[in-house]
Amino acid sequence: MGKVYLVGAGPGDPELLTLKAARLLACANVVLHDSLVSHEVLGRISTDAEMIDVGKRCGRKLLTQDEINALLVSYAASHEVVVRLKGGDPSIFGRAGEELEALRRADVEFEVVPGVTSALGAAAAAGISLTDRRLASQVLLTTFSRGPEADAMDWGCLTPATTLVLYMPGPDYAEIARRLADAGLPGDLPCVIVSSASGSRQQIRWSNVGALAAEEKLPAPALMIVGRIGSRRIREIGSEFWRGQRNESTGRRVSIS
Ligand code: SAH
Repeated sequence: MGKVYLVGAGPGDPELLTLKAARLLACANVVLHDSLVSHEVLGRISTDAEMIDVGKRCGRKLLTQDEINALLVSYAASHEVVVRLKGGDPSIFGRAGEELEALRRADVEFEVVPGVTSALGAAAAAGISLTDRRLASQVLLTTFSRGPEADAMDWGCLTPATTLVLYMPGPDYAEIARRLADAGLPGDLPCVIVSSASGSRQQIRWSNVGALAAEEKLPAPALMIVGRIGSRRIREIGSEFWRGQRNESTGRRVSIS
């Protein structure tokens, strides 16, 4: 029996791979990777390794999750080093949970190798501190559910000091703007769109919740960082911010304005 490594490929720049990830890519017997993994990172994989693209792109599923789980288990029976390579970090919107469960059930040895999740790659690219203490005290990594239960999105934990990172925002910026406004976010709240963070095609657009609907779409993969930490005037806003929060009555849900 071999071992399966769930490896984070980071947001794109191969220099953001961990040393462990780079070592495993260089000695893997087989690599099952997502479409999101950059060409530069794929270039680090041993030329002797068998490579399988199990990713999905534009809604076209190449393999179902069950098929991927089954592949991992069967490759572990015949190969020593099996790498399951995922964009960013495997545990952030990466379906690592289902794969780990399948490996546990099949009694296959595994190890998770964390990667730089795209929220961190995007914040670095934009020069934003996600938890800038002058304006933020928590970060929410989230996405919209687009299923029938879409309206059940629970943003009850949003406060004015929350930095929200929206993964998989999709191309309908008007819908996103509406949902953010429905959650009580003010129109002037900064919203930074980062596309292909850390990659050669990286783009950054500085906007806000009110202007988002009219923004030109940036190509996938992209995410949005929403919060006061996206302001260029942190020093000015920050000095007043916490005083204002303290004046809000405690115990009730704070409206974000
Ligand atoms: N496990 C990944 C996320 C997978 S979900 C991670 O930790 O980053 C796929 C979403 O991640 C994309 O729709 C996009 O919102 C985001 N994403 C992935 N790579 C990105 C990149 N280089 N730049 C911006 N967003 C990215």
